[in-house]
Amino acid sequence: MPLTVELIPCLTDNYAYLLHDPADGLCAVVDPSEAAPVKRALEARGLKLTHILNTHHHFDHTGGNIPLKQEFGAVVVGPEKDRERIPALDIGVDESAPWQFGSHMARILEIPAHTRAHIAFVFEGESIAFTGDTLFAMGCGRLFEGTPEMMWSSLSKLMALPDETRVYCGHEYTQSNGRFALTVEPNNSELQARMREVDTRRSQSAPTIPCTMELEKKTNPFLRPDSPEIRRTLGMDDADNVTVFAELRRRKDNF
Ligand code: ZN
Ligand code: FE
Repeated sequence: MPLTVELIPCLTDNYAYLLHDPADGLCAVVDPSEAAPVKRALEARGLKLTHILNTHHHFDHTGGNIPLKQEFGAVVVGPEKDRERIPALDIGVDESAPWQFGSHMARILEIPAHTRAHIAFVFEGESIAFTGDTLFAMGCGRLFEGTPEMMWSSLSKLMALPDETRVYCGHEYTQSNGRFALTVEPNNSELQARMREVDTRRSQSAPTIPCTMELEKKTNPFLRPDSPEIRRTLGMDDADNVTVFAELRRRKDNF
């Protein structure tokens, strides 16, 4: 059976995701910021939570861990390298082995820099990636615990995923990310078209998630430090990709 993914808006602009395969009888939530909206989503569908998956330790991704574990006895799965900072972690995972969710296998990618132990869960069989606060639609996370080199290498790992991969990220930041993207690559016609669609969706309060890896590679400036237009805008024609990436991140921090 295919894995269904459902968005659960949390806090101001976070998304948690409900993963469910009726054949396995398993139900997971990815990055529960808080328990209440997750419980409402479970009740509306008559589901019992069996697993909690965390991409990184920040409170807006783990705030629901303890109450949801207490209520459902759910097993908490997250980065082993951050065991001490993930509330109630049961199963620590890293890149050395996949994690099996019923009949579905999640490859773990270690993608540090937003936090030093940030991971992605990639369900290759269904072309789905949960990227937390590392890769956003048209953006990337802030470098709280890493260098531009580390973030560029983390994003490069994600860029190696197949084009059709659907990306589920941690926040609805797409519209403001897109506004920044247009300041550095104003003539990118695919970016312009995407932004029109994003503006329409947001004017209806509809989510812009998931996006695809293919569209990210064409429109996300943080995946495009080799774009001639971006380099021209930044006056960095001859710099290496990491240097261009670092300058993009610096400008976005001040945007
Ligand atoms: Zn975060
Ligand atoms: Fe976050």
